Amino acid sequence: MSGAGGGAEAVTAAPAGEARVIDGRAIAARVRERVREETGRLWTEHGVKPGLATILVGDDPPSELYVRRKREASAEVGILSFHHSLPADTSAEVLAAMLAELNAEASVHGILLQLPLPAGLDPGAMTRRIAPEKDVDGLHPVNAGLLAQGAPDAVAPCTPAGVIELLRAAGAALSGERAVVIGRSTLVGRPMASLLLKEDATVTHCHSRTRDLAAVCLEAEVVVAAAGVPRLVTADMVAPGATVIDVGTNRTEEGLVGDVDFEAVRAIAGAITPVPGGVGPMTIAMLLENTVRAARRALGR
Ligand code: NAD
Repeated sequence: MSGAGGGAEAVTAAPAGEARVIDGRAIAARVRERVREETGRLWTEHGVKPGLATILVGDDPPSELYVRRKREASAEVGILSFHHSLPADTSAEVLAAMLAELNAEASVHGILLQLPLPAGLDPGAMTRRIAPEKDVDGLHPVNAGLLAQGAPDAVAPCTPAGVIELLRAAGAALSGERAVVIGRSTLVGRPMASLLLKEDATVTHCHSRTRDLAAVCLEAEVVVAAAGVPRLVTADMVAPGATVIDVGTNRTEEGLVGDVDFEAVRAIAGAITPVPGGVGPMTIAMLLENTVRAARRALGR
């Protein structure tokens, strides 16, 4: 499938001296439309409906909400969803048995184990129980390894994959550009750096021990902030005209705040994502896309 593409409505035109605002909701809607078309093709050409199994262990309210949203979004694009709720005291053996069953179930093309898991269940060990070809979160070490190797068809974690879609839709030329990634988590920062390398960007990877983050960021044409630190990236850290992608979602007394000081950086950058309405909507859209790709791969195409 091709990228979401550019277009006037995906990036809001800006008054002179202000960055264009990259509209994650509009770009995510296009990805979902692309997925809907693909599920239609899989059905008419092969009689296959992609299936996504979601597993929620325990009753953490935010996790319940995320899983519900993922299931609703699946239904909207023609992906079958199979949900399994397990009590918080579920043992590793019981969860492993459920994962083995879903690995063997032909109607399930993707398995999503909602994280975090309750204390006592090791998320890494449980993720490794998911068959790599059904790992639509891209967190299995096989998929992480393929991505790190730059394999063309590696399954990428949904949030950084969504960032690449946003950059493409914003028309950011990544090849040869200097890109800085702030954050080195397994979920976001590391796969983000691998994906930018795959796009031929010149990647600098920053983290909590990086010295003089401001100086490093000032060198970059693209900055992706995924540190989980409210307003870490300030106007004096951004080069004029740079593209700034804010992955951060920090709940503060003022409400939801990104890792970028949006109002100040907007006056310097060339393009910027808001929080909310930037990276956030992309994550579920890319999960749907990973699921449909898994269904197509299962067909051997
Ligand atoms: P994490 O806590 O696992 O990793 C944070 C990383 O940032 C670490 O590698 C750390 O070294 C680095 N870091 C921390 N403080 C820093 C500093 N002062 N300077 C430079 N680097 C610093 O977090 P994560 O799971 O990668 O998530 C990062 C942010 O992205 C969080 O706000 C999270 O809520 C958000 N997030 C959003 C989505 C979405 O869909 N929008 C998805 C995943 C994560």
